[in-house]
Amino acid sequence: MNALRTAEVIAVGSELLGWTRLDTNSLFIADQLSRLGIELRAKAVVGDDRGRIQAMFTRALERADLVILTGGLGPTDDDLTREAIAGALGLELEEHEEITERIRRRFERRGAQMPEVNRRQAMVPRGAQWIPNANGSAPGLRLEVDGRLVVLLPGPPRELQPMLLDLCAPGGVIAEGAGAERLHRVSLFTTGLAESQVEALVQPIYSLWRTEEEPIETTILASPGQVELHLTLRGPDEAHARARLARALAALQAALGNAAYSTDGRRLPEVVLASLRARGHTIAAAESCTGGMLLERLTSIPGSSATVIGGVVAYSNDLKVDWLGVATAAIEAHGAVSEVVGAAMAEGIRARTGADVGVAITGIAGPDGGTAAKPVGTVVIAVSIAGQPLMVGTHLFAGDRDMVRVQATQAALNRVRLALQA
Ligand code: ATP
Repeated sequence: MNALRTAEVIAVGSELLGWTRLDTNSLFIADQLSRLGIELRAKAVVGDDRGRIQAMFTRALERADLVILTGGLGPTDDDLTREAIAGALGLELEEHEEITERIRRRFERRGAQMPEVNRRQAMVPRGAQWIPNANGSAPGLRLEVDGRLVVLLPGPPRELQPMLLDLCAPGGVIAEGAGAERLHRVSLFTTGLAESQVEALVQPIYSLWRTEEEPIETTILASPGQVELHLTLRGPDEAHARARLARALAALQAALGNAAYSTDGRRLPEVVLASLRARGHTIAAAESCTGGMLLERLTSIPGSSATVIGGVVAYSNDLKVDWLGVATAAIEAHGAVSEVVGAAMAEGIRARTGADVGVAITGIAGPDGGTAAKPVGTVVIAVSIAGQPLMVGTHLFAGDRDMVRVQATQAALNRVRLALQA
């Protein structure tokens, strides 16, 4: 077999061409291949049509060392991948008794008889090897064509993922074909800075890495409330690559200062929870415009119950008053979205729950409700920690309702992070 340097992925399934289903398998595959240093050159989605699958496959095989097809391996008439590939390569399909037996036993374990149509899943193009599927009836298939590798995998992600991981693990046919070079990756996450600000700080540093003998590639990805830097380095020596990437990360961290909050892949909620845990602190939240999103983000982290007490979605003014002890006069004088009210909410939730840290969010997520003085996107965030001065600030976030809400939770988490450092 040729060394596997380039790959193409074809996702088969008419449903993936509609508006209800997205091809996510190719993302998983791209991730695994890139770890092995295999460059994904193209990916495509094609409907359940034999001719079109064949045409796409034939072109991909002319260009890439590895072609992976996903989906269309089921037992029904519209599952055509197996037949299309056999047809394109001029190979006959033969029933493989061992596969039929496995499928039969799979049905029997569930007290059912194997329907005759499932025999289709035991049809293997002559010369192909089959790949066991622990989570479904359709086995995968692999075959070598003029030194190139073709892999067929079932569509459901929970079936495909473990199969692909096996193929990409040491000893697996894709890993063995990939050779010694690997793509080494690290990432650094920042919050509180815009993409252009991050770029201005780090561009003078990473631009030098591009021209080195083993260049480090830097990608900047922005999402609401977060800018990520992803560094990749291709090379055969893991220890050497790791050391270089660690030095590169340190240089970026020095330039970004406190805006850089993670270099180990952990997201902000995880970092904040770890920091709370390290201090033995508990946290509670009072949320208005984010409707519980902050607590949702914190409680989605396993083990958060030791640190997160809970909180309240105080959407109405009445609840802010009754539940959090915010003074009606403060709301009347300053409005529900004001630093006075935000501060009272943070102190109120801390007093009410007995948490060490109280965090509050009150804002105008839009699209309605903005005024000249407080436009849509105005969000007040307050953090109250026992024995520390209260932190309160007003932000103005851009974007639609969802974006404002996400940025508000991100900024609240960041304020807690910074307050814990104080
Ligand atoms: P099975 O017979 O086990 O269902 P299959 O290979 O025939 O396997 P498909 O029928 O093509 O798979 O797809 C089954 C389901 O798997 C789809 O409804 C979809 O939910 C999911 N799926 C298929 N392809 C993809 C893809 N590229 N990305 C994400 N999900 C996918």
